[in-house]
Amino acid sequence: MKIKVTDKRTGKTRFEEVKPMAETRIRNPICMDCGVDTDAINETFMIHDELWREANPAEAGTLCVGCCERRLGRKLRRADFRPYAISAVDEGFPASKRLHSRMKK
Ligand SMILES: [Zn+2]
Repeated sequence: MKIKVTDKRTGKTRFEEVKPMAETRIRNPICMDCGVDTDAINETFMIHDELWREANPAEAGTLCVGCCERRLGRKLRRADFRPYAISAVDEGFPASKRLHSRMKK
């Protein structure tokens, strides 16, 4: 994919090749299954790569807790989340009740 970038120094515009979404991790907060805005309901979470690929083989995209669990066929648990995602929530990063309950020790 090519995007238009403007050089701040020269003011010139050029087109630059960018990596696919999964690699650059440009997030679209909309759950791809139910359409909920995961930012609005505070369900921003990161699970381990292998598990994420199991839920979403396409890798790019966002799922809310409920849709991710439906795809996996089970509830998420603390060990599924990446350590920094857990510490972020432990330190007060906003998380829904549902997300909190999954991250509980
Ligand atoms: Zn959803």
